[in-house]
Amino acid sequence: MARTTWRSMRGMLTGFAFAVSAVSASASEDFIVIGTGSEAGLYYPMGNAICRLLNKDRGRHGIRCSAEPSGGSIDNLAALREGRIDFALVQSDWQARAFEGRADFVDGTAFEDLRAVFSLYPEVFTVVARADSDIVSFGDLRGKRVNIGNPGSGQRATMEVVMTTLGWTKDSFSAVSELPSSTQAAALCAGEFDAMVFAVGHPASSVQEATTACDSRIIPVDEPEIAALISSGQIYSYAEVPGGLYRGNDAAVPSFGFTATLVTTRQQSLKVVQEMVQAVFTQIYVLQQAHPAFASLDPVRMVNEGLTAPLHRATRAFYRFEGLLGDVDK
Ligand code: GLU
Repeated sequence: MARTTWRSMRGMLTGFAFAVSAVSASASEDFIVIGTGSEAGLYYPMGNAICRLLNKDRGRHGIRCSAEPSGGSIDNLAALREGRIDFALVQSDWQARAFEGRADFVDGTAFEDLRAVFSLYPEVFTVVARADSDIVSFGDLRGKRVNIGNPGSGQRATMEVVMTTLGWTKDSFSAVSELPSSTQAAALCAGEFDAMVFAVGHPASSVQEATTACDSRIIPVDEPEIAALISSGQIYSYAEVPGGLYRGNDAAVPSFGFTATLVTTRQQSLKVVQEMVQAVFTQIYVLQQAHPAFASLDPVRMVNEGLTAPLHRATRAFYRFEGLLGDVDK
């Protein structure tokens, strides 16, 4: 269904809101935590923006939401599984691997209670190299000093998938560092390594810093093995870092990508999930304005794309009511 159609149906929201509030009145307060990412990424501002929307109506629903920084997707999935957080922002590729228990996810046991809430904006596997290095293609990273990301981050986990795909190991580089996205741009510009990777939406402040504090170029990730990785399953797609967003990088750069998603567990209460989706979808324009990378948020895509784990059962009534779910899901 086209977005315009959905927008024209928003008059129906009041009816749904009434239905939710009728079942959700509660004296006790629910405290929920969203696991995000480093403060230099987009998960952190996104988690905070979602919490702000939810907390606005706290007097009625009694839910208090807090967004916590973290190491990224993989740490978030572990924390969610262990019940240390209630919601998590994760890359769609790792949502899929976690739910399916694919061998390349932690110990390969399926996270069967993982539930999708919605997806958000596209993320691109992004490689940035110092302009004074002779790196112009992904293959040129061999023999160089590379920051492959902190363990627990989505970029690190996806980088390892890429390395395996290319038959590389850590020994393929002359030096490997594991800095998080919050410090990698400064270290790149200080000459501590030649290139860094980040799995992120654009524009991202870390890439902005890496291209303004020194001269850097965004490197294409378009090896034939990457094309094979994209076509081997449903979790990756062709993507690009848009041109003109970053100093010295006027042309779009091809790579591959996935989607940022919000997940929870099967055990999460109906009330909390209902209030969460209602707060987000009825005020989507607030999220769209919270950061330039969020401007493209599209309600129909958010409930139909990038989701592998089943939707949490509390979302379905709302998404159906709003006419957001594709025919397949009806
Ligand atoms: N995609 C990254 C991860 O999963 C986080 C990106 C961000 O913080 O915006 O760790």
